[in-house]
Amino acid sequence: DKSPLSLLGLGAMGGALARAWLAAGHPLIVWNRTAGRAEALAREGARVAATAAEAVAASDLVVVCLLDHASVDDALAGADLSGKDLVDLTTGTPEEARARARWAEERGARFLDGGVMAVPPMIGVPGSGAYVFYSGSREVFEAHAGTLAVPADTAYVGEDPGLAALHDVALLSAMTGMFAGVAHAFALVREEIPLKGFADLVVGWLGAMAPYAYGMAEHLDSGDYTKNVTSNLAMMVRGNATLLRTAEEQKVSPELIAPFTTLMERRLADGHADEGTTGVVDLLRVP
Ligand code: NDP
Repeated sequence: DKSPLSLLGLGAMGGALARAWLAAGHPLIVWNRTAGRAEALAREGARVAATAAEAVAASDLVVVCLLDHASVDDALAGADLSGKDLVDLTTGTPEEARARARWAEERGARFLDGGVMAVPPMIGVPGSGAYVFYSGSREVFEAHAGTLAVPADTAYVGEDPGLAALHDVALLSAMTGMFAGVAHAFALVREEIPLKGFADLVVGWLGAMAPYAYGMAEHLDSGDYTKNVTSNLAMMVRGNATLLRTAEEQKVSPELIAPFTTLMERRLADGHADEGTTGVVDLLRVP
């Protein structure tokens, strides 16, 4: 028999998680602030709790997937968490996760934080590439490993409850840089190049360039930022000037790419012509 669980939050992500657990045969108790969102799930077999406290009381395993840290405070304010295993799939910062872990412990609960690396249509679809980083209580992760693996693959990254959020947000930050670069590229070409074909080129090019992250890891690990550099900083700073002049010619604001080119110029001015871009990582450290 599949073990029961309670899920608080039936937004885009919570709804997808709920359907994955129902489809796998787990008895599911759900709660959502706006009750209407639970109706469709009730027809699909979920039991709907009238209050968050009632949903928490119903199962040993309580999963929350709400908008942000503050909405978890709101939702759980009146709930008795003693003896519960609380799993928080709400996106937050590492410090928020650590604070939530202390908060849960004060209330007698064991705590596991999660960072979902997927969009809702990937949830519950084997082979979609969806996975969730988990950190915090190893006991909770192991006790519920089968249940947690239903909606997506799992990756436990350590006892420090902040580590799942750190992994999650670091990857989202890399993605944000990619979104910024892609937006700038479309702004350059939108009136002159067929956009669907251009998207094919973007996907291929970013895929080909992504492994440069391995070189950056090697540089940072070894402290030698010049090893195996094929594109040196002096050349790239000269190339960046071309990027900025092209933006000007195309009447596109440089505001998305200029911050990065400025940092590369600073590193070059500090005397690192034979490095690649790894030195920018040093410049980003706030003293
Ligand atoms: P939605 O906006 O679709 O849903 C937000 C949920 O939070 C709803 O259930 C909403 O309730 C609830 N909520 C908001 N404020 C409060 C509050 N003060 N008290 C109680 N409940 C509240 O968001 P998603 O489902 O997409 O996202 C949920 C979490 O999952 C977020 O942390 C997000 O970062 C994360 N995530 C989402 C991904 C995505 O692509 N969608 C990808 C990876 C992670 P109500 O219905 O009443 O408004």
